[in-house]
Amino acid sequence: MKKTECALVQDLIPNYLEQLTSEETNVFIKEHVMHCRECKKILEESTAEVEETETQEKNQTLKIDFLKKVKFTKKAGIFCITIAIVLLLFSGGIVYHNTGLPLSLDDLEIQERRTEMVTIRDEETGQTTEKEILHYKINYEKEGRYITSRYSYKPGDPIIIFKLYSKWGDGGKTIDGSIEIEGVNTIYLEGESGNKMTLWKRE
Ligand SMILES: [Zn+2]
Repeated sequence: MKKTECALVQDLIPNYLEQLTSEETNVFIKEHVMHCRECKKILEESTAEVEETETQEKNQTLKIDFLKKVKFTKKAGIFCITIAIVLLLFSGGIVYHNTGLPLSLDDLEIQERRTEMVTIRDEETGQTTEKEILHYKINYEKEGRYITSRYSYKPGDPIIIFKLYSKWGDGGKTIDGSIEIEGVNTIYLEGESGNKMTLWKRE
């Protein structure tokens, strides 16, 4: 891995997280972090920071709205109680917005799943290893909702479970990426109420 490529990727990460980069650049970054531990770490840390900031900003906006509304009311007592209830419901909404709601697997379409052997070069030792990678692309068709996922995997575990969630507001209609599948037999997509669908199974 060339050092200059790392510098370039690291420069692009803030724009990438703001979704300002082109599809071509996104592919470049995704492929790079698949092979580069240092950049992968930076990307993960930056992602966590952005999510933290977004939550703080939303909470801040809520507080300001709340204060504005209180100023306008004359029946302040009742109004405050009402606002407090709304606020409570609304903050529940924010939690859902950030983590997402479980989705129905009926709304999904698997557009791509192909495996590939890639050669990965360790930056420190210079050694190369062959790794088996699954490329996947899942499309989500639901009006006004977007998709997000989280997956749990421990090395040596033959099963990977992708938990899928739908979000309101902004987001993507597809999830695509690559995952290392050495020693993996099955990858499941998990939707609402824990029902599962196979994304990929070793033949
Ligand atoms: Zn790098």
